[in-house]
Amino acid sequence: MTLNIDQLTRSQNNRFTSVRLDRLVERRDDAEWVEQALARDDARLVPMWRSRSLLSRNADGTLAVYLKPSELAEPDLIQPPTLLGSDHKRTYFTVAVTDRQKDDVLELYPEAAFTDLRRASIDMDAKHAGILAYAKALHYWQHRHRFCGVCGSPNRLNSSGHRLVCSNEECARQSFPRIDPAIIVLVTHQDTCLLGRNPNWPPRRYSTLAGFVEPGESLEDAVVREVYEESRIRLSNIRYVSSQPWPFPASSMCGFYAEAVSQEFEISDELAEARWFTVDDLVQVVKDRSVLLSPPVSIAFRLLADWFRQRCGEDLEALCREHRHHRPA
Ligand SMILES: [Zn+2]
Repeated sequence: MTLNIDQLTRSQNNRFTSVRLDRLVERRDDAEWVEQALARDDARLVPMWRSRSLLSRNADGTLAVYLKPSELAEPDLIQPPTLLGSDHKRTYFTVAVTDRQKDDVLELYPEAAFTDLRRASIDMDAKHAGILAYAKALHYWQHRHRFCGVCGSPNRLNSSGHRLVCSNEECARQSFPRIDPAIIVLVTHQDTCLLGRNPNWPPRRYSTLAGFVEPGESLEDAVVREVYEESRIRLSNIRYVSSQPWPFPASSMCGFYAEAVSQEFEISDELAEARWFTVDDLVQVVKDRSVLLSPPVSIAFRLLADWFRQRCGEDLEALCREHRHHRPA
């Protein structure tokens, strides 16, 4: 059982990373090209309404619903579509739809609904989950930065949605999409791993430890600090594993493994409970559902499932599926 694959491959196995689109960075400032691309038959819009994605469900799972530009009445001339990129078949844009446009879209696609992507993506095709996550992240940033942070004037979208420029010409400050780095770490000790329960989570829900990286801190420093703050555990052998865009709302999750110096711990207010689990313990709690693990779309689950497979050769996700551990929305 080998996990001897490079970080790029590991990261690409994480949900929401499979956006193998050509992002067409060099086209973003070419208004003429963008206009022509939007007029072509292969243009598709990813509609977002109040941070929700347009999805439909059938027997195969959850599907992304894309619109042709002509299907959206009253296009918004102030906030033109944001260019996402293209694959070999289509060029994707994303648009925020108004309440009225939302009603029109749902009339056109009665089997679809505007849904929270995080839960619905459990049984979604990886590529399309990635495109929707990319769109969601850009919308969140655009929506949260409508005003200039320097002078308070309204910002305008620029560069096909990838840059905001202050409308006050004397200021003209530019800003770019923001992501917040966070670390997430599976702490192990010999044949056990540590999972904790955040006090705000539902009962029985356990996951790996995680936290935001602070200014003036390396990713590894953040791992050491977060784990110590939450559990008073000292670490050795900290290893970066893979990363995942996590647009809920704007994180970049950086995944690590680390070894605890000892099994003793003392939880802080940030944790309601923590427990060491062996592979057998995990099998048991999945079977009897006494613990609910993070959904398989999360890097938390991937870190745990990879560790589980390294130790026993079994597939934790299949085991969870068999016991109906995770359900789509
Ligand atoms: Zn300004």
